[in-house]
Amino acid sequence: MKGMSIRVIMALLFVGTLTLSFAFVLLSAVLVRNTFVRFLPADAVPQVMAGLQTLLMYQAIGILAMSVILALIAFWILGSIVVVPLRTIIEAMSAFAENGTRLPLPDLKMAPLEISTLANVFAGFMDKVETVHQKDTEISRVKSDFISTAAHQLRTPLTGIRWALEALEREPLNESQQALIKSAVDKSHDLVAIVGTLLDISSIESGKYNYQFVSVDLVALATEVTNDFVPLATQRQVALITDPLETPIPPVRADRDRIKWILNNLIENAIRYTPAGGSIHVSLGIAASQIQVRVSDTGIGIPKTERGNIFERFYRAGNAIAKENQGNGLGLYIARTIAKDHGGDLDFKENEGGTGTTFILSFPMAT
Ligand code: ADP
Repeated sequence: MKGMSIRVIMALLFVGTLTLSFAFVLLSAVLVRNTFVRFLPADAVPQVMAGLQTLLMYQAIGILAMSVILALIAFWILGSIVVVPLRTIIEAMSAFAENGTRLPLPDLKMAPLEISTLANVFAGFMDKVETVHQKDTEISRVKSDFISTAAHQLRTPLTGIRWALEALEREPLNESQQALIKSAVDKSHDLVAIVGTLLDISSIESGKYNYQFVSVDLVALATEVTNDFVPLATQRQVALITDPLETPIPPVRADRDRIKWILNNLIENAIRYTPAGGSIHVSLGIAASQIQVRVSDTGIGIPKTERGNIFERFYRAGNAIAKENQGNGLGLYIARTIAKDHGGDLDFKENEGGTGTTFILSFPMAT
C-alpha cells in the first residue's frame, strides 16, 4: 500500500470485492445445480439448467450494476471529503515549508474528524512558526540597530587613538617602546577594520548600501586579488595557483570594490584554513548559465554538522577556531549578502575525496 494514492487503493478494493462476489455467485450456482439435479426427472434437467443460467446472468448484471453505482458514490464521497481536502492541506504544507507562504486551508465543514483535526493542528503550527519568525526578525532588527549604533560610536574615538599612536610612532623612541607602539598601531588598524565591517553589515542589511554597478572584468580582478595574496601564501607555505581559463568569461555588471572584497575574503580564508604544504586553486568558468569564480583549497574543510551555519553572522566552525584564533565569522555572511544583491550567490561544496573546500561565487550572465 506504501506510496499508493487512496483512489488507487479504493479501485483495487472495488475490483477485489467484485471478483469475490462473482466467485460467490458462481459457486452457489454450481452447488444449487449439483444438489437439485439429482432429484429432477431427466427430461426436466435442460429446462431447469436454462432457467438457472438466466437467473445467474441477471444476478451477475445486478451485482455489477450495484457495485458500479456504489463504487461511484464511494469515489465521489472519498474524493470530495477526503482526497481533495488532504491534497489542499499537503499543498499548503509544501508552500509553507518552502517559502513560508500561507495558502488557504480547505473548507472543513464536511471533512471527517481526522482531516479537520489535521488541518487545525497545521493551522496552529503555522501560527506558532510565524510568531517565532516575527520575534526572530524583531531580535535581528534590534541587534542590527545596536551593532550600527555601537560601531558609529566607536569609529570616532578609535580613529583618534590610531592617529595619536601613529604620531607617537614617529617620535624618537627606544626599541622596546617602538615595538609596543607598533603593536598598538597594528591592533588599532584591526579595530578600525572591524568597526568598518560592522558598519558595512548594517548598511548592507538595511538596504542602504550604495552599490556602484559598472562593467567588471572578473578575470583581471581575480588575477589582481590572487597576486596580492602571493606573499601571504608564500609565508604560510601554501601554493596559490590561478588555473588557465576553460572558456572566455564575459564582463559582469557589479560593484568592483565589493566583489574585490569578497574575493579577498575567500582567498584569505583559503590560505588561513589550509595547513602548510597545501594548495589553493582560483578558477573561473561558466556553469548552469552562470559565471563562476571558484576558490578551491586542500584545507581543513567544514565539518558536516556545521555546514548549515557558516553563512550565519559571527559563526565560526570548531575546527576553524582551533586552527586560527583570529576571525569574527562575519566575512562569509557579508559576502553572500553582497553576492545576492548582485543577483548571484555564494556557496561551497566539499571537494571530491573529502579534502578541503571549494567556494563558488556566481553571477548571472548579462542579458
Ligand atoms: P572567519 O574566517 O573570520 O571566521 P568567515 O565568515 O570568513 O569568518 O568564515 C566563517 C567560517 O566559515 C569560518 O570560521 C570557518 O569555520 C568557515 N570557513 C570559511 N572558509 C573556509 C575554508 N576555506 N575552509 C574551511 N572553513 C572555512
